Amino acid sequence: MSGYQGKVLRINLSNMTTSVEQLDLNQTELFIGGRGLAGKIIADEVPAGADPLGAENKIIFATGLLTGTSAPTAGRYMVVTKSPLNNTIASSNSGGFWGAELKFAGYDMVIIEGKADKPVYLYINNDQVEIRPADKHWGKWVGEVTDDLIEEVGEPKARVLTIGPAGEKLSLIAAVMNEKDRAAGRTGVGAVMGSKLLKAIVVRGTNKFEVANPDKYKEVISGIMKKIRENGVTGQGLPAYGTAILVNIINESGSLPTKNFQEAYFDEADQTSGEELAEKYLERKDPCFRCPIACGRYCRVDDQEGGGPEYETVWAYGANCGVSDLKAVIKANKMCNEMGLDTISAGATIAAAMELYQRGAIKADEVDGPELAWGSTEAIIEWTKKMGLGEGLGTKLAMGSAKMCEEYGYPELSMTVKKQELPAYDPRGIQGIGLNYATSNRGGCHVRGYLVSPEILGIPEKLDRNSIEGKAEWAKVFQDLTAVVDSMGLCLFTSFALTAQDYVDLHNAATGKDFTVEDILACGDRAWNVERLFNLQEGYTAKDDVLPKRLMKEEIPSGPSQGSISRLEEMLPLYYKARGWDDDGVPTDEKKQSLKI
Ligand code: SF4
Repeated sequence: MSGYQGKVLRINLSNMTTSVEQLDLNQTELFIGGRGLAGKIIADEVPAGADPLGAENKIIFATGLLTGTSAPTAGRYMVVTKSPLNNTIASSNSGGFWGAELKFAGYDMVIIEGKADKPVYLYINNDQVEIRPADKHWGKWVGEVTDDLIEEVGEPKARVLTIGPAGEKLSLIAAVMNEKDRAAGRTGVGAVMGSKLLKAIVVRGTNKFEVANPDKYKEVISGIMKKIRENGVTGQGLPAYGTAILVNIINESGSLPTKNFQEAYFDEADQTSGEELAEKYLERKDPCFRCPIACGRYCRVDDQEGGGPEYETVWAYGANCGVSDLKAVIKANKMCNEMGLDTISAGATIAAAMELYQRGAIKADEVDGPELAWGSTEAIIEWTKKMGLGEGLGTKLAMGSAKMCEEYGYPELSMTVKKQELPAYDPRGIQGIGLNYATSNRGGCHVRGYLVSPEILGIPEKLDRNSIEGKAEWAKVFQDLTAVVDSMGLCLFTSFALTAQDYVDLHNAATGKDFTVEDILACGDRAWNVERLFNLQEGYTAKDDVLPKRLMKEEIPSGPSQGSISRLEEMLPLYYKARGWDDDGVPTDEKKQSLKI
């Protein structure tokens, strides 16, 4: 079946029915699979204005074209829905093994609709599909429920995707977790599962499937494996030190946001680096399905062990909260995974709460836990727990920094785009990533176009991080190519080593088609425009393609990027032009026709 299993599982939790549909192969020509295709289905099937936490919203768990094949990193899946955090079209991506297992069970995606009236979980074992009661699992933390469900279904090789207490409590920054510590973290997708009273999806599969041209596929894979091994980032840096290798690199560029972006250089950053982590706490590498890069870390601190932390987490709980104790960051990461919280949004929201406290907006007598003081190791762990469990002031933090800061009368202290917390690169010191942030369809985000790659790492060529020249065109190409990688079910980190032609070669060997680079980038462009149109329909306008005022008006106060501000306003019109949109950021009729949307 040319890379696909050809089947879609549809589950209606309102009337407790399950059905199997054929995958629409005409649509795979246009959207490939994964993020692109699931985004199209959400745009078509979720009515405008639907309550993200209501029965009308749907949530799709989608594998990509290559998920479950022998291509390197081919284990990824997407969670696509309407976001409860910001009403955008949400899509979160996760690695591990769950995505590949779903494909082996015989399905390209699972569409969940409606809403159960009591807690349930879904059990998929090849053709056996059951909606089972989950009353006794409701309230459990991620690690415990994962073990319990594997025991309950009696399949030691089953893979578990679940929400933690945060998703059950409808925290707007709740994640979907798989294999305990892999997360589809962003955009609050865990709350959508929680709203449907769907605790988990347990999957076991043994169905084989074929690519169109197996010999060619093998040949392409052997070529790209060589490139991945020989590339400095994917062959050396990430395997040795994980993503946290970036801590020192980004700090040295003066772009490591510190204390809620009040500063962009953290004196003690090296105490939280990937090098430090590897030396003191790393038990072993923790690769996803068929991944030769193995950036994943498995760490031990005192009596705790578990996956992570990633660079973004080290930053969110480290420099951004003024914390230099890596042990505490590792523990906070573990707490996030157990609660099922997005580590970026959770850490950044605690940082925003610390600034609210610093400015006297949150009063001491309101703080029913550790003092919200910069650098407090106790605070980052305990407030994560209170957010997840929905306790006291933690309930305000659990709604994310945008709502929280608004409630306290300081909306400008929320470092968000479209209400989603920004990740670990200060866009005043890296101009292009600011354009990526501002135009990201799901709100503040680094993995919808990672211009840090050329601007800092020099991949595929070195760009001047302080210049805005050419950044609009680069942003568009990176966004489109990322949508392709997400739709194929591969890890974005492959793009450090591979070219667009490599993805075309994989695609063509798997499907038997003869796409060109232009064709495949058009699929990415199409996915991007469908997402944009969804957001416009939900009331977003060009005014929302913006960065927090601090980043546009306040110069970085010290460090290697001292004096910089974001020049987003100059880049944005050029970006709209590069996209073929009008001056208001709306796709023109001509653009829509050219993309067949
Ligand atoms: S590079 Fe890291 S995140 Fe990507 S598939 Fe490999 S282990 Fe997973």
